[in-house]
Amino acid sequence: MRTERAEMQTRMDIVAVMVGVAVEGPYSYRVPEHMQVERGSIVAVPLGPRLILGVVWGAPKDNFAHNRLRDIAQVYDVPPLSEELLKLVEWVARYTITAPGQVLRGVLRSPEALDAPKPVIAYRRTGLEPEKLTPARLRVLDALMDDMAWPKAALVGASGVSTSVIDGLERAGAVEKLEMPPQPVVLPPDADAAPSKLNPEQQSALDDILALDPNQFGVALLDGVTGGGKTEVFFEAVADTLRAGRQALILLPEIALTNTFIDRFTRRFGTRPAEWHSDMTPVQRAKVWRGVLDGTVRAVVGARSALFLPFRELGLLVLDEEHDGAYKQSEGFTYHARDMAVVRAQFSQARVVLSSATPSVESRNNANQGRYAHVRLESRFAEAAMPDITAIDMRIDGPEKGSWIAPSLAREVFAALDRGEQALLFLNRRGYAPLTLCNACGHQYKCPDCSSWMVEHRFRGVLMCHHCGHERRTPKSCSECGQVDSLVAVGPGIERVAEEAAARFPDARRVLLSTDMGSHAQLRERFGEVERGEYDLIIGTQLVSKGHHFEKLSVVGVLDADLGLAHGDPRAAEKTFQILTQVAGRAGRASRHGKAFLQTYHPDHPVMKAMVSGDREAFYAQEILAREAGGMPPFGRLAALIISANDHDNATNFARTLLSAAPMADGVRLFGPADAPVAMIRGRHRVRLLAQSGKDFDLSGYVRFWLSSAEKPKGDLKIQVDIDPMSFM
Ligand code: ADP
Ligand code: ZN
Repeated sequence: MRTERAEMQTRMDIVAVMVGVAVEGPYSYRVPEHMQVERGSIVAVPLGPRLILGVVWGAPKDNFAHNRLRDIAQVYDVPPLSEELLKLVEWVARYTITAPGQVLRGVLRSPEALDAPKPVIAYRRTGLEPEKLTPARLRVLDALMDDMAWPKAALVGASGVSTSVIDGLERAGAVEKLEMPPQPVVLPPDADAAPSKLNPEQQSALDDILALDPNQFGVALLDGVTGGGKTEVFFEAVADTLRAGRQALILLPEIALTNTFIDRFTRRFGTRPAEWHSDMTPVQRAKVWRGVLDGTVRAVVGARSALFLPFRELGLLVLDEEHDGAYKQSEGFTYHARDMAVVRAQFSQARVVLSSATPSVESRNNANQGRYAHVRLESRFAEAAMPDITAIDMRIDGPEKGSWIAPSLAREVFAALDRGEQALLFLNRRGYAPLTLCNACGHQYKCPDCSSWMVEHRFRGVLMCHHCGHERRTPKSCSECGQVDSLVAVGPGIERVAEEAAARFPDARRVLLSTDMGSHAQLRERFGEVERGEYDLIIGTQLVSKGHHFEKLSVVGVLDADLGLAHGDPRAAEKTFQILTQVAGRAGRASRHGKAFLQTYHPDHPVMKAMVSGDREAFYAQEILAREAGGMPPFGRLAALIISANDHDNATNFARTLLSAAPMADGVRLFGPADAPVAMIRGRHRVRLLAQSGKDFDLSGYVRFWLSSAEKPKGDLKIQVDIDPMSFM
């Protein structure tokens, strides 16, 4: 009697459940008599007319009348989400000013994973001989000679028969059907499969990383030149984590585009890693998600959203190319995967390795301040040397009108091709030309829905808006004045560079690499071909700047090094420095001596000077000083509020109303309303408010309070909040 009562008291019979929809907080549900749940249990609950996924969050906030509550419909037979992950969801929701249920939906991304995995159907001989033996039946029985159980698909493959033959043998009693547990999605990686022999500098970098207490939160900034072997070093940190029985996560900015990294991992650890990115089927996703949760998956290589996978034993997070803009999620709820990785590591007492040849100013500053261990790799592996970088002053040595490749660069490309090496022409602009106009009437082609020019994509025969994707066929005659063949392209895009390259270097085997040129799978193919040396001349956008290791590449030409400097973006210099260093760093990664050429109208700009002198320290020092003086991140905080509406005045007026409702706070400065640099996207006018504060101020809390007390947007008005904005579109 007494024990029964004690049980009744400890058993949670009403719980708070966070549902995966954008509501403010958890709802209360009754736990049916026969059901056991705990914090983190994944459940299905009725919400309105639907059943919806949710997670048990704990005890309910208020006391409810039992009879008003609905029952939890189902608890899934998977381990509960870890405390650490629940805390991450709450933290991210608070920080980014998003409903926690919406963040949780990002965690529960793979509902298929919750159903028990389907067993594998297999067959085994019974020993009984069938009465009728056809050649097909014989082939099946031959395949089963080893008396092992064969999965159906494998048996069909080995014997080359149709499944009806196997069914027939089963009916005849000669084989029996078994259900085997499904194969794990990947085999466990072997920490000792094929460790690299690190050189002394790499070994000391690894020692510095491993000096971080494995059972505590700690961050190392692995700051090393391109080709220095950062990957080799952090692989050993992954191995260390696996040996300690904890899980490892490696985030890459652009995983879908390269097989190289996966291949390297496979060689190092003897098995493929589990992958997580947008190119996977729901079935693959489900397997990985479940494996991460139940612990069968020990290492994941993924895109930024892998940060929300349900690890329960996470011991290491690696962010390769930690400075990369792709880590910022800018649709839905906006978060920065690097910052959130550090937060998650704090909750799970894990180590973090941020790896880059061009660290973000934020991370460099953290290292300078001693918050992160600063781990350096200053020389390239083996005989490879850093490329020589030269600026080509376009005012003096520029190309003739109508062409884009300076004579001195063209000579270097010829020389590389003559030596049987590869050259790369880089321009970070897709399409054929950024602007198209009619030379009869002067009409300039603009997107009907955005404040942006239509970009000609000659390869596909369309004009395209890069903001909303709107396309139209490139007209034969001007749609304003009707003049035939009057459209002229203004300025270069990568396709136009390819055209010039074809005329200048007709004998080179050329390849054009930009996201317009094919699917992810096709691009992966192309990259593989480039790595195997099947092309001499590579013409590409930022796609080619990241992580690739092209052994034969010795000359890199950047056709417009100034592109990107012009924006009113506080990170313009940093971003330009990063992309130029990354592109130049593709040159001479093996034994060949690499050269990079920067075509610029501003050879005296600090970014160009730092590039040419190779003095990255001077660049960081100057950039950090400038940021500090301007109160810019990481010495200050920024939050952007984009107010959008179908009508421009409506958006501006609401932004004014919002501004007038802003609470007073010391040290917060508000700017705007101003039209956003891209003032219209998809027919919606965009007006921006910007808040700036000191770094020790809770700016996200301020904005949350502000929005909760201000008038709510109605009708087609929308507010999008971006804490720590990275782009100033
Ligand atoms: P990073 O990531 O710093 O750009 P990588 O790790 O890609 O550099 O190394 C550059 C190249 O040098 C790769 O081909 C890599 O396999 C090779 N490499 C670097 N360190 C070693 C090592 N210790 N042993 C063998 N190969 C190495
Ligand atoms: Zn558009």
